[in-house]
Amino acid sequence: MNPLFDAHNHLHNPRLDGIRESAVASLASQGLRAAVVNGTSESDWPLVEALSKRVPWVIPSFGLHPWKVPARSAAWRETLLGFLENVSGAVVGEIGLDRWIEGHDIAAQTECFEWQLTLATERNLPVSIHCIQAWGALWDSLKRCPLPARGFLIHAYGGSAEMLPGFVRLGAYFSFSPYFLHPRKAAQREAFAAMPKERILVETDAPDLAPPTERNPNPLPGGLNHPANIVLSYEGLADVRGIPLDELAAQVAENFRRWTATSFPSACE
Ligand SMILES: [Zn+2]
Repeated sequence: MNPLFDAHNHLHNPRLDGIRESAVASLASQGLRAAVVNGTSESDWPLVEALSKRVPWVIPSFGLHPWKVPARSAAWRETLLGFLENVSGAVVGEIGLDRWIEGHDIAAQTECFEWQLTLATERNLPVSIHCIQAWGALWDSLKRCPLPARGFLIHAYGGSAEMLPGFVRLGAYFSFSPYFLHPRKAAQREAFAAMPKERILVETDAPDLAPPTERNPNPLPGGLNHPANIVLSYEGLADVRGIPLDELAAQVAENFRRWTATSFPSACE
């Protein structure tokens, strides 16, 4: 069995409380080797930390999500730094820009996003980026800020195929979500068919971004996305790329390990 990697989910999210224990027990036996579990606000960072302490394949990730920018406290930066410093193996995310959410303040989002992106760069940490309907603003931020030497992830990439070469040049990885199996998401599937193979990753974003009902092997009440849909996400992307599942899984394993590899300071630092 090929090892599987979920590049972006929210396994700590309280909406998964009813199924988390059974999912944790079964995911490893389904071949899951690691999952980047993304906190989104000061209130859920402790849940990510707690999960990472008891589930060995969880990579804990801490970030202020653009939807959570309006509710941030005055001390959010210090709190975030505390989690990054004190939680073993911590990385950065979910951070980003979003003009789709009602009442968005793109200036405040940009300030929070760029501060966190710069933090990831200074520490050369993996970082997960969310972008909805803010591609121009994201491009501007990525051009303005120093970027992590290891690259960065644009999760559930919903941008156009035309924008890909620019993002690739800046060091982007892109993760495919089971949501892109909805028939209306043909443009996203086209973009994923066109990406360089060294930059593709696979995710669930569970409990969000569920696949279409008719293709969902793990339906949950309320239309939630089950973390075990990582298998469907791999199968769907192998189809989109027109390659065998084994070949895709081997490539994604290599990409995931490259993106998340622990970096060691050189002797002169
Ligand atoms: Zn997410």
